[in-house]
Amino acid sequence: MALAQFSTGLPHRVSAFGGRHMLAPDVERLRLPLANAFFLGEPGHAWILVDAGAPGSAPLIGRAAQARYGVGARPEAIVLTHGHLDHIGGLWGLLKQWPGTPIYAHSLELPYLTGQSAYPPPDPTVGGSMSALSPLFVPGPFNFRPQIRPLSELPELAALKGWTFLDTPGHAPGHVSLWRETDRLLIAGDAFVTTVQERVTGALTLRPQLIHRPPAYYTPDWDQARASVQRLAALEPALAATGHGDPQGGQHLRDELRRLARNFDEVARPVQGRYVVHPALTDTSGVVHLPPLSPRGQVLRAGLLITAGLLMLRQLRRWAA
Ligand SMILES: [Zn+2]
Ligand SMILES: [Zn+2]
Repeated sequence: MALAQFSTGLPHRVSAFGGRHMLAPDVERLRLPLANAFFLGEPGHAWILVDAGAPGSAPLIGRAAQARYGVGARPEAIVLTHGHLDHIGGLWGLLKQWPGTPIYAHSLELPYLTGQSAYPPPDPTVGGSMSALSPLFVPGPFNFRPQIRPLSELPELAALKGWTFLDTPGHAPGHVSLWRETDRLLIAGDAFVTTVQERVTGALTLRPQLIHRPPAYYTPDWDQARASVQRLAALEPALAATGHGDPQGGQHLRDELRRLARNFDEVARPVQGRYVVHPALTDTSGVVHLPPLSPRGQVLRAGLLITAGLLMLRQLRRWAA
């Protein structure tokens, strides 16, 4: 299957939220606020949705799905690379549009998606403006019973023909990437990304474009994250689409991904941070142990929450006036 060409590593950009970007005839990237989602399946055929964007993304996803697959079209399934809020925020609205649609995630993600456990809390001490804001990001628990199911129960679907799911934990305990050997197409989720997600400017403008570590504020196991990047680099993908940033391809991608894998501890592992030395420990029930947040982290978190609370109070007073 012919892939879209990305010879320079700087593909044409899809700047508008809701913009669609063909990666292969049966694979499309949908740009959403904060994160990307993907349609798998050619127009006129059965299809699935991969990831669901941040809260508020459901109307954008619904409109894009109609434009690609026709009015009233609905997916056979929704598959999640992982369950962080910026990848599942559209689900509540989508389940109203497409009631009963099954949602699949790795079994190690299920504690966070069935109301059992919150994710390890985000770490505001790893550097970057987005990281400093991260205590505002809700780590769950989220509950998508009865639609949520383990990936192991995913039936054979035409839209997934040729795709394999790779375990790529570290950024999330049950994080998975999607890989298609025939055209070497990789949907990497947040195992690595292509912009500096730790900065608000990177998260919103998708600049600069580079092969970059998983979003650091939400990565609770750096040894696993390194192993996952090494696993994906060894595949030598022709084209990689990630949860954040524009897709990248060609020799540029392979060289930069290899460089990231080889030098991960020097260029990717934060110098300091809650999970840098000791990871969060998780199992099939969710989080079982968290390393403590440093005093500096506690001050950052408290300052941010107080500021957010005061701003909300001021807004409420304005509305009441
Ligand atoms: Zn994530
Ligand atoms: Zn993400």
